[in-house]
Amino acid sequence: MAANNNEAEIDEGLAVQEELSDAEHVLTCCIKDMPDKIYACQKAEIILSVACSKHCDLSGATVTLCGAEGSVIASEQLIKQVSKEWCTRSIEVTFPEEAGTYEWTVFFEPSPDEGLNGWQSEEDSEYPSDDEDSSWVPGDEYGLDACPLHEVQEFPAVLKVRSHKVSTLAWGLLGNHFVADEPFTFTVGAQCDASCDLKGQDISIIDIDAEKPVHTAKLEYFGGPMKTFWCADVTVKAPKDPGKHTWDIVLPADKVHEETHRPLMFWVIRQAPNALVRVHVQTTKGEPLTGASVSVQAKGDSPYRARTDDGGDAMIKVPEGIYTVGVSKSAYMSTQDQNITIKENSAANLTFVLEEDYMDY
Ligand SMILES: [Zn+2]
Ligand SMILES: [Zn+2]
Repeated sequence: MAANNNEAEIDEGLAVQEELSDAEHVLTCCIKDMPDKIYACQKAEIILSVACSKHCDLSGATVTLCGAEGSVIASEQLIKQVSKEWCTRSIEVTFPEEAGTYEWTVFFEPSPDEGLNGWQSEEDSEYPSDDEDSSWVPGDEYGLDACPLHEVQEFPAVLKVRSHKVSTLAWGLLGNHFVADEPFTFTVGAQCDASCDLKGQDISIIDIDAEKPVHTAKLEYFGGPMKTFWCADVTVKAPKDPGKHTWDIVLPADKVHEETHRPLMFWVIRQAPNALVRVHVQTTKGEPLTGASVSVQAKGDSPYRARTDDGGDAMIKVPEGIYTVGVSKSAYMSTQDQNITIKENSAANLTFVLEEDYMDY
């Protein structure tokens, strides 16, 4: 997928630029555990952390995460130290409903205990003296650098929220040839790149020519390639008119997903296949050729296909008609027979000899 479009996306441990000042105590704020990709409406557990360049004890400080319009998403205290950072407990956040770029802000407010020392201006903010009169200094009891005071500070965080991309698929349409007005079965599936749970979601099949819905199913189980699709098995009646048909599989839009379409192309044949094409494929030495692909195709129609077995044989059921039968296999020259007429309830027996194609090597 086009991940490059999101180069500005936040990495894990989103580093927020601190307002550099002359103060010696430079605070760095981080939003930890951000997902690699942030999707609309998605939830995540994050942790806010702040570290001081002087490794101060920042426990008890309040960090407030605000959304775009200053709305408070979370306000938590820094409670535990992880490495050199002071962290909040984990916070559940829900990302905005619409894709786009958002500016969030983290406000840092030092622990009120820090103020017990009396406020020191920047000029005064040198290390406290060893003077016995010097009052309690935060961080002292931890043997850390003594900390004069940290200022209230805000850290901007830019958030790139992606829209969800849904793809749909249909499979199990064996040969794509269906008998007019007879039921046929296949599977439809949908998946979202944000791994949304699509169970119970409606998926519809629309007959584009007739402009009417054919069927609506609910996605109910995991399947498809890589088992990443939510699937539904569908049984529908083929149209009455023979020939090529295109239907549309539609996953309707919801709050976070756009309407998604997938064309479903198939052929309707007038009658069930009741004629047989038997093909034997062999080499010039008379040895049976395994795994050759055989296609039986009527003009303007999609081919019926099969592969030869260990004996070099393939059998394909087709409706009566006039066909071109082609045989191919890699490293051999393909060949075909045209205008083969096959009658109802009868069989055509064809033998093909494939010559090796030395040009392939
Ligand atoms: Zn500090
Ligand atoms: Zn989704």
